[in-house]
Amino acid sequence: MQEITKIIQQLPIDPLTGAISVPIYQTSTFVQEAPGVHKGFDYARSNNPTRLVLENLIAQLENGSKGLAFASGLAAIDCVLKLLQSGDEIIAVDDIYGGSYRLFTHVYEKFGVKVHYVDASSPDNILPVLSAKTKLIWLETPTNPTLKIADISAIGRYAHAAGALVVVDNTFASPVLQKPLELGADIVLHSATKYLAGHSDVIGGLLAVKDDELGLKLKFFQNACGNILGPWDSWLTIRGIETLPLRMEAHCRNARLVAQTLAEHTLVDQVYYPGLPQHPGHDVAARQQTDFGGMVSFTLKENTEEAALSFLAQTRFFKLAESLGGVKSLVAHPASMTHKSIPREKRLQAGVQDSLIRLSCGIEAAQDLQADILKSLSQTTHCPTSPIL
Ligand SMILES: *Cc1c(COP(=O)(O)O)cnc(C)c1O
Repeated sequence: MQEITKIIQQLPIDPLTGAISVPIYQTSTFVQEAPGVHKGFDYARSNNPTRLVLENLIAQLENGSKGLAFASGLAAIDCVLKLLQSGDEIIAVDDIYGGSYRLFTHVYEKFGVKVHYVDASSPDNILPVLSAKTKLIWLETPTNPTLKIADISAIGRYAHAAGALVVVDNTFASPVLQKPLELGADIVLHSATKYLAGHSDVIGGLLAVKDDELGLKLKFFQNACGNILGPWDSWLTIRGIETLPLRMEAHCRNARLVAQTLAEHTLVDQVYYPGLPQHPGHDVAARQQTDFGGMVSFTLKENTEEAALSFLAQTRFFKLAESLGGVKSLVAHPASMTHKSIPREKRLQAGVQDSLIRLSCGIEAAQDLQADILKSLSQTTHCPTSPIL
């Protein structure tokens, strides 16, 4: 935490004016003294001073050597996939973010990239599909929406022995809670749309790596393909990151109380939150994270979509929306929202029950969120189809 606030405190002061806020360089090009003689910037797809501050910031926050900023989380993911060639294989977590699944399956498979999906909560599960063709191991930890935990160090050892790179989508944890590069990952990526920008007002993506050569390759693809983050959104993301440590503290505090409240409630069946000792990934999460994050999912004893929808209709602090990681609490019903296009049987296999509800705990007063949950659950019992006794 102190380490992170120190990095943020060292954001550059504008040398021209002393402005304490990073200037927004809204320019496409830079005037040159003579061909090739300039101040390090020639064209803003290649480099922009505002974006560069953000790129250096994420590199430092993740303890890497190079950072890159993209127009969305998926654009950052797309840039990593450009490292691959036809015939290469990926091993990915089976409850991967839906947009990543769509990009892998419907865009890259047609170029001859094969993806194996495994439950990475046990590292040995990757071994049967790990081969010389494996080029990337794609982890999310915690995952969405059932918050499974993968052991980054253990999987990193298997991956590196096979010559594969480990990519960690660190969106749910943020660098405040987890630093995958320090645990042996090669590439860390973020949907900056979520916790990093933090105010539900930006779409952006970030990468950080520690290896210089890998950084140069990714930088080449960023410039060649052009999916860069604009200066205004770069500035909003820097501004968001300035309060990231404080916000993460509040997200974690609120999620802890909400998870406890749910775990003790008679209408609630399962609670998915890595901070609970009964969570199967609790020990690994306690080792590789500094806290357990702001996300909590749960199922109802009456395991129906109707019961879940009746709960959602009652919440006031938790607003019904996709996305997560903003200052305002959000609630979602994956079965009818993010996972709607997945056949029911496949969805159930992935642990997304009919009544599963996902909460993104914001930074409101913890007692208000607790009261909102309790009140909404008490009103859920009036659901006409409820057989709960
Ligand atoms: C949202 C999200 C993404 C995609 O990011 P966008 O900014 O929406 O493109 C990738 N991974 C995870 C875990 C996410 O939550």
